[in-house]
Amino acid sequence: MPDGPPLARVSSRLGRGSWGLGIFLTALLVFARAPGPVLSEEARLVIRLAPERVKQGGVAVLRTESPTPIRALRVQVGDRRILAASPEGQTPQPVLIGIDLEQPPGTVLVHAEAADGSGRALLGLAPLLILDARFPVQRLTVSRPFVELDAASLERVNREKAVLDRLWETLTPERLWRGPFRIPLEGTGPGVGFGERRIINGEARAPHTGTDYSAPPGAPVLAANAGTVALVADHFFAGTSIILDHGLGLYTMYFHLQESLVQPGQRVERGQAIARVGSTGRATGPHLHWGARLQGARIDPRELLQPLPVD
Ligand SMILES: [Zn+2]
Repeated sequence: MPDGPPLARVSSRLGRGSWGLGIFLTALLVFARAPGPVLSEEARLVIRLAPERVKQGGVAVLRTESPTPIRALRVQVGDRRILAASPEGQTPQPVLIGIDLEQPPGTVLVHAEAADGSGRALLGLAPLLILDARFPVQRLTVSRPFVELDAASLERVNREKAVLDRLWETLTPERLWRGPFRIPLEGTGPGVGFGERRIINGEARAPHTGTDYSAPPGAPVLAANAGTVALVADHFFAGTSIILDHGLGLYTMYFHLQESLVQPGQRVERGQAIARVGSTGRATGPHLHWGARLQGARIDPRELLQPLPVD
């Protein structure tokens, strides 16, 4: 009853003539402490989201607040499961939540579940407001073989997509990155094109899921942060590609490369040269397409340039 003594002091100072005010304050206190309609005070896990409103393609951070240690934290955003690093016996780290660029605007419920020291289940709920990022619409004309796929190309594209889908479901349970990410090129602009809705040769197509940087062919491409090389591939659309696994379901992608300088499974450091800029795959000229996935959500990689609270 941490609120009891101050109220008693207030009442006694007010004296006998102030019963009305005393009753009012007591009623206010009782009302404020009344259990919610769903969860009892004991089983509630307080969760905080920052920010509470996030744009499509953005990142929010979930923190838990508990007076006693909790474990086995599980987080769900809408119907999407999020991996929360909750090492045995340790307080869970803040959880990064990626908002997919096509997540419809509106409120989604974030649901967190954990257990306290005695194994009792704790539950927390918080609304997260998804804001419309109002991505621009871009009209492109590209050569027909890249948009009107023959059966063999279509089969290849589907096979490559399956490889990537399996990768997004592969969650390395430890964090491999340290500190803010960096732009993966030296001396380049702020990057363009994330989330653009694309109309190619007059037809609506999948949105642009990365940020493009112009760079001369052969320019070194640098690892945006430490991680392991999850994939080196030559894909139909992305051309020569590298995907880095930074752990906890966070991946960065580097597309249209002239050549890769790394091998799958290799550990890389932040800023290490991993490739050279090219224009392989479906590219209109030499540039670097930089993308990021956070637990499957397609986020703007530039969201990672600011310090994240897990660092
Ligand atoms: Zn691109």
